[in-house]
Amino acid sequence: ALKILEGCTNCDMCEPECPNQAIYYGEKIYEINPDLCTECVGYYDTPTCVSVCPVDCIITDPNRVEDQDTLLKKFEHLVLTD
Ligand code: SF4
Ligand code: SF4
Repeated sequence: ALKILEGCTNCDMCEPECPNQAIYYGEKIYEINPDLCTECVGYYDTPTCVSVCPVDCIITDPNRVEDQDTLLKKFEHLVLTD
């Protein structure tokens, strides 16, 4: 899963672009629900939030490093339980 750092300017570019609705406005900045973030696996070749973020404040969550297979399984689970 990815993670939004404090440099987020709340520009609101990423939230509507997330195919998993994993991005939400938190207490101060936008945040990502790691249980919903597939790093865009299943939808796009690269994470679309990273592509649109003007300040490059979205990184791989060091506490939720997942390989492609894990991300694909998460995508399939989310689609099946949608
Ligand atoms: Fe959403 Fe993709 Fe960003 Fe994860 S990487 S928060 S799924 S847009
Ligand atoms: Fe924050 Fe970047 Fe999302 Fe804008 S695109 S709300 S700066 S994380």
